[in-house]
Amino acid sequence: MTTGATLLGSDEPLQTAYDVALLDLDGVVYRGAFGVAGAPEAVTAARAAGMRVMYVTNNAARAPQTVADHLTELEIPTSAQEVTTAAQAAAALVASEAHPGTRVLTIGGEGLRLAMAAEGLTVVDSADDAPTIVVQGFAPTLGWRDLAEAVYAIRAGADYIASNLDATLPTDRGMAPGNGALVAAVVHATGVTPRSTGKPQASIFHQAARRSEARNPLVVGDRLNTDIAGARAAGYPSLHVLTGVDQITDVLRAVPGERPTFLAADLAGLARTHPLPEWHGGAWTCGTAAARVEGTTLVLTRTDGEVALGGGSDPTEVSLDEFRAATAAAWTATDAVGPDHPRSGDAGGSVLPADFPPLRLASE
Ligand SMILES: [Mg+2]
Repeated sequence: MTTGATLLGSDEPLQTAYDVALLDLDGVVYRGAFGVAGAPEAVTAARAAGMRVMYVTNNAARAPQTVADHLTELEIPTSAQEVTTAAQAAAALVASEAHPGTRVLTIGGEGLRLAMAAEGLTVVDSADDAPTIVVQGFAPTLGWRDLAEAVYAIRAGADYIASNLDATLPTDRGMAPGNGALVAAVVHATGVTPRSTGKPQASIFHQAARRSEARNPLVVGDRLNTDIAGARAAGYPSLHVLTGVDQITDVLRAVPGERPTFLAADLAGLARTHPLPEWHGGAWTCGTAAARVEGTTLVLTRTDGEVALGGGSDPTEVSLDEFRAATAAAWTATDAVGPDHPRSGDAGGSVLPADFPPLRLASE
């Protein structure tokens, strides 16, 4: 069990308590083609308060300048120096191990090729050019011929790195195969498992912190198993926002290695203080909110009575402080029974059941 995987409090707004925000993109500042409401204002306010921003993305296909141009179009003026991609993280790893004979075969988009070139690495186009290492990242144009080049080179002894292992990629038509799915084809054909540098690995966050000269960075993300797990791996605190993939129930049921440090509806949470839930009078309390877990049921105490939530209950609205108190209650109850407890194992690690109802934040 990971120790210390609990919420933290901050008496200061996060944007003055931390010097750099390591921000995820999709589900945090935009969703597909559209900006997240309030994100430009929140980033502007954080910058005005002295916080710097560094965008950290597992997308290895787009060059940093392309990402920066997209953000600037969404009214978040951004330079290429404020973007760290999984391609750059992979290139940094290759460069750190490179010797004069290193020849890199890139399987992926222009962003991956540019990142290798920016590190001064020799990039080749074919397995016939005797590459010493294959680096694979997602590109929508990737096909059998590209995967075949990777397989020829790896079977001939080349080392193998993947920019990230995301199984899926969100598109406007639903989930599509991500880099991890295409990597799986190469793994199947070679029996060789690549090293990966993207989220949830710590290396992309360490590189982003180094590039932004952060002393005290805060990771911000919407996905527990990439952004937040990567933050834990890197040893950085994290803010989870509800504008993307994972929602309140996912946070309540999170395993220790994927638990965020702070909770907010959206990026406006950077400008807020964050009260710490406390154990008080038989419940976890936060402001006027109180929550406790009894068996597999979450009980919220309100001025007009108690609300008991368990498997199959109806969706419910909660306040942000109730979300915090419920999170402390759910994580503590889960840790108390331990990961080997059959009830916790059946539910994927949490005492709260898999069919625990979706909770929504009430508007403040
Ligand atoms: Mg995201």
